[in-house]
Amino acid sequence: MLALQKRTPAPGLDLVEVPAPGPLAPTEVLIRVQAVGICGSDLHVEDFSAGYEFMVPLLPVTLGHEFAGVIAAVGADVRDLYPGQRVTVWPSSPCGVCAACAGGQEQNCTDKRTLGLMQNGAFAPLVVARAEGLFPLPDGVDFELGALTEPLCVAARAVATGGVGFGDRVVVLGPGTIGQGIAAMARLAGAAEVVIVGHDDAARLTLCRALGFDSVTDLVDPAGAAELHALAGSADVVFEATGRASSITDGLALLRPEGVLVATGIHHSDATFNPTTLVRRKLTIRGSHGSRRADWASVVDLLARHGEALRPMITHRLPLDRITEGFALARERSASKVMIFPPTQGSLS
Ligand SMILES: [Zn+2]
Ligand SMILES: [Zn+2]
Repeated sequence: MLALQKRTPAPGLDLVEVPAPGPLAPTEVLIRVQAVGICGSDLHVEDFSAGYEFMVPLLPVTLGHEFAGVIAAVGADVRDLYPGQRVTVWPSSPCGVCAACAGGQEQNCTDKRTLGLMQNGAFAPLVVARAEGLFPLPDGVDFELGALTEPLCVAARAVATGGVGFGDRVVVLGPGTIGQGIAAMARLAGAAEVVIVGHDDAARLTLCRALGFDSVTDLVDPAGAAELHALAGSADVVFEATGRASSITDGLALLRPEGVLVATGIHHSDATFNPTTLVRRKLTIRGSHGSRRADWASVVDLLARHGEALRPMITHRLPLDRITEGFALARERSASKVMIFPPTQGSLS
């Protein structure tokens, strides 16, 4: 079968023929992938930028961790899941036995083997996942909306980490998929005002308007920079979803006293800020990464009720054999979520 793999610890990816998965372990499930999104982290893996050294001993690995599909087969010990069922998958599903899992902190599992980064993922027609990580999709949630579950869970966890509450003024730095999801989740959490900030990001900010956010600011525009400056010292919670270290510094300046900055980007360089500012203004910086089991149930439920309102997040759709074009699109600020569709059963070799 065709698969997009990271094969060597150097820049680049390979679209290659690989064997279909072998026999399932008792707690595993085989899934026929129906839709899979390209994530910013996939671009980092393609570049092989700093922070992905953990992959080196695991290569080759098929990428792809934001997906939905149909169960093709289940392992001998799997209960309550059956072939033909439509599902989405928590790619970092926990092992269930390590100290963190046993202590009720499964999101900190030390043996999580994330699909698409640490073991073969979903840029392929078939993927094997732990049964523990599967979430059935309600009838109204199609596969491409189902494939948005993972980034929306990351966004929901960031909003929970920030403690966004009723009436808050929230600023989201970065209008990509995670920024869009954070804005949507912050609004649901009761934020009175959500400002989304981009830099030379006309297309993605237009998309944010389509998602119902009117307060969008492009810093490449002098008026936009002035608008943001006017918000200095007033935000209850600021989210950094850019991966640019300077956004941490900029975000701190936007916070009111005792405000919270949540960092969600993957950064390649150090951030600089004056700690005295942090101390005197009693600011908090928190990191948020991945999601928790509870996020999955609530986001799947949210998609069943509000999925259509979120569908504009998907801007491009391509078959798996054109995924290289998809990666090029995902690098352009004109694209938002690029969705890939592997061949369906008939054309599987
Ligand atoms: Zn992702
Ligand atoms: Zn564990």
